[in-house]
Amino acid sequence: MSNQELLIRQRFTRQELQCRCGCGAMPPQASIERLTALRYVLDMPLTINSAARCVRHNTNIKGATNSPHIVPSTARPGEQKTWGGCGFDIRITSLAHATRIAIAAEKVGFRGIGISTKNNFIHIDDMARPQITHWDY
Ligand SMILES: [Zn+2]
Repeated sequence: MSNQELLIRQRFTRQELQCRCGCGAMPPQASIERLTALRYVLDMPLTINSAARCVRHNTNIKGATNSPHIVPSTARPGEQKTWGGCGFDIRITSLAHATRIAIAAEKVGFRGIGISTKNNFIHIDDMARPQITHWDY
């Protein structure tokens, strides 16, 4: 098996998915499984720039207040609980790369897809939405 194949087949590590502040916040299992399915369908490695975030870290990096990256257990009381840590920002090298990921992401059930060619990432999340939503940053 080549290194590339190994990268695709192994599980995502905690380091790849947990909040970058070191608090240990992780995405929900269902979203991790969907991300794993996405990588399987794409059959290529994915570089995760950002996944789960605690509220404090999300604030520190100036993330949106209602960002799907925020883990629900660390959300403020009364805030919506349907997004819970289910956002993933994946590094892209081109618009073609992003498009390929976007098509596969829809196929495996991600419902929010945002592309930033300026900052070289695609955001995907499986937040409950009435319809699949696309946007550009
Ligand atoms: Zn954190």
